[in-house]
Amino acid sequence: MAETLYIVIPCYNEEEMLPITAKELMKKMDALMDEGRISRNSKVMFVDDGSKDATWEIIEKLHNMQASDIFTGVKLSRNKGHQNALLAGLMTAKKYADIVISMDADLQDDINAVDGMLDKRAEGCEIVYGVRSSRETDTAFKRSTARGYYKMLELMGVEITYDHADYRLMSRRALEALSQFKEVNLFLRGMVPMVGFKSDIVTYERNERVAGESKYPLKKMLAFAIEGITSLSVKPIRFITALGVIIFVISIIMLIYFLITKAAGDTVRGWASTITSVWALGGLQMLAIGVIGEYIGKIYLETKARPNFIIDIDLEEQSSEHN
Ligand code: UDP
Ligand code: MG
Repeated sequence: MAETLYIVIPCYNEEEMLPITAKELMKKMDALMDEGRISRNSKVMFVDDGSKDATWEIIEKLHNMQASDIFTGVKLSRNKGHQNALLAGLMTAKKYADIVISMDADLQDDINAVDGMLDKRAEGCEIVYGVRSSRETDTAFKRSTARGYYKMLELMGVEITYDHADYRLMSRRALEALSQFKEVNLFLRGMVPMVGFKSDIVTYERNERVAGESKYPLKKMLAFAIEGITSLSVKPIRFITALGVIIFVISIIMLIYFLITKAAGDTVRGWASTITSVWALGGLQMLAIGVIGEYIGKIYLETKARPNFIIDIDLEEQSSEHN
């Protein structure tokens, strides 16, 4: 039996793009169904993220279309942002689907990569990441900042797939596991690798947006970038602690140096003690902030209530299923 595929697409003010996207996806879904690669119950699920234009009306129209019943939709009560809309779609789709693929409404991600994802799925993967093979369509600015950003995330100890956005296939099992992550600060591309399971990547060329404009202006992009670091890493706190230690050590060295120069009799009265205490106190305070931060970091991770483990294979369960 072919599996049921749901394609989840978050949409915010996408009235210009939706008709084009729907047409392309209908062709793709029909082809996949005809080839028997996905079941006839497969659907495209649009998530309206509180759009202010005719996005929802278009989704309803697509859903009520006579010629095809592959379109369905979910409407959020208000705009909650790309990541929340995406999660809403994934969690809704997992009720009906065996596998879910998420992509953007603007078709910047090549929909033909879906074939490759299904191939990997057939090989037993629970998660397949879509990875851009080139960034030629992006501006030089976006390209270089993105590169630097991924490097920085890596330094912060965040496990992330290079040049992977939110174009990915997840099985229902992987989604069930993801649903155990209770955090409200979402950076899905950093959270999904924590789920684990057998996974692989599929590369594709990224296209330009055909209609409408980017819903990610620089300000939102920066906020998203900071979210990525602060929701996945407590390293910035460690950095402060380390800085505090370094400054304190410098003050000790200064003290020793001043004592030596004093012994040599070559000093200005009062200066050495003032400067040394400024550095020593500064360093100690920073160290103290870092230590407090360390505990706040722990509280932060606790409040996220992430699962401590996710079981891939339980032989006991497998054998009882067969009985
Ligand atoms: N999006 C959303 N809610 C928002 C902003 C964006 O659901 O508040 C959707 C948008 O409709 C699109 C996807 O997120 O399907 C990615 O947005 P966009 O293509 O504008 O981002 P870019 O490709 O420029 O990074
Ligand atoms: Mg886009």
